[in-house]
Amino acid sequence: MIQSRRECLKRVARILAGALIVPHRALAAPQDTPHRIFADLHLHAGLHAWSRESPIALALPPPLLALTESEFNRTGFDWHRCHDAGVDLICATHYNPFDELVSMPVDPDPNAAAHTHRMIDRLEREVHGRSSRYARITINRAEMKSVLSVRRPDPEYRIAVVHTIEGAHALGGDLRNVESFARRGVAMMSLTHFTYRGVATTGNGLPFFPDLNRTEPTHGLSPFGRELIDEMERTGMIVDVTHSSASSVEDVLAIARRPLIASHTAARTLADRPYSLHDDHIREITRRGGLIGVILFPYMLANYASIDLARERGSLDEVVRTIEHVTAVSGSHRRVAIGSDFLGWITGPKEMKRLSDIGRLRTALLDRFDGSEKIVADILANNAIRFLEENWGSP
Ligand SMILES: [Zn+2]
Repeated sequence: MIQSRRECLKRVARILAGALIVPHRALAAPQDTPHRIFADLHLHAGLHAWSRESPIALALPPPLLALTESEFNRTGFDWHRCHDAGVDLICATHYNPFDELVSMPVDPDPNAAAHTHRMIDRLEREVHGRSSRYARITINRAEMKSVLSVRRPDPEYRIAVVHTIEGAHALGGDLRNVESFARRGVAMMSLTHFTYRGVATTGNGLPFFPDLNRTEPTHGLSPFGRELIDEMERTGMIVDVTHSSASSVEDVLAIARRPLIASHTAARTLADRPYSLHDDHIREITRRGGLIGVILFPYMLANYASIDLARERGSLDEVVRTIEHVTAVSGSHRRVAIGSDFLGWITGPKEMKRLSDIGRLRTALLDRFDGSEKIVADILANNAIRFLEENWGSP
């Protein structure tokens, strides 16, 4: 392969940089396979910045806006701390609350796809700009693998960033938008979110409106939703069943041919809420090569009577317990991963104020899995990365 002079110089610089930091390398894991730290299947990296720029937010007095953000969101994230912590990959999800909740009664909103493209543009500007020292957008499997092949302490190490979408209301009711999102690197999309928007009924996940949690919908996918599964599979976009009602999950399982993901979910056996997956569904999704991402939101992982109680007591114990449960139900620790949902209006475990505190979950998992670095690295990173490598993009 002919390389440009610039590429050669870069390679030499990399080798020299590596030679200068040999003592650190000696402390690191064996270099035959990269030592993985963490891959997050679901993080709202751009939601707050986007919301702040919305006409509704601009109309709010700044102190009220700050209060709204701090009250609804008790989790922190920033690129440089995650880079310092050695995070491998972040699935940055794009969710436009205004299209889902405020644009009614125009449903679906024909402008929703354009809005979501603008959200993606915004995050790309941020990552390509002031955060370029810490992260890099990857729009297909090959780019993802390339970025992931360079890890700490190499100065070229960057967090691989993968676009995802939360809620198929982002399509604005037009299936042609699936391909346009797939082409610009959206790896997965959840069919629904807080409310039914003509695609799939939702297992309500809004703790702030508990009334919506009372009923279990008796129907799942709409005709549009059925067509959407085909189109996502054709374009290589992974179907995410998080937020789907049990009926929707049944419908998806009946027609899907490719492996599914639940990127940030919980187990109904441990947390009796419509948001959580039944054991039969966990078993079937994982039997078919799918992946279960556990949300880092204790309220959703246990039967707390109130969100205030979960804020006070919710801990990594609930996360570890759910990981154990999914491992037992699926028969393998290789079918479970993490989708933090940080910055998505949640409260994290009391031990984790910021995503970069992920080392605390690692310690808790090491304690549970008899000190096995291999099992813990699989759960925290390898399983998610392998799933994306195998299922993102056209077969
Ligand atoms: Zn969600």
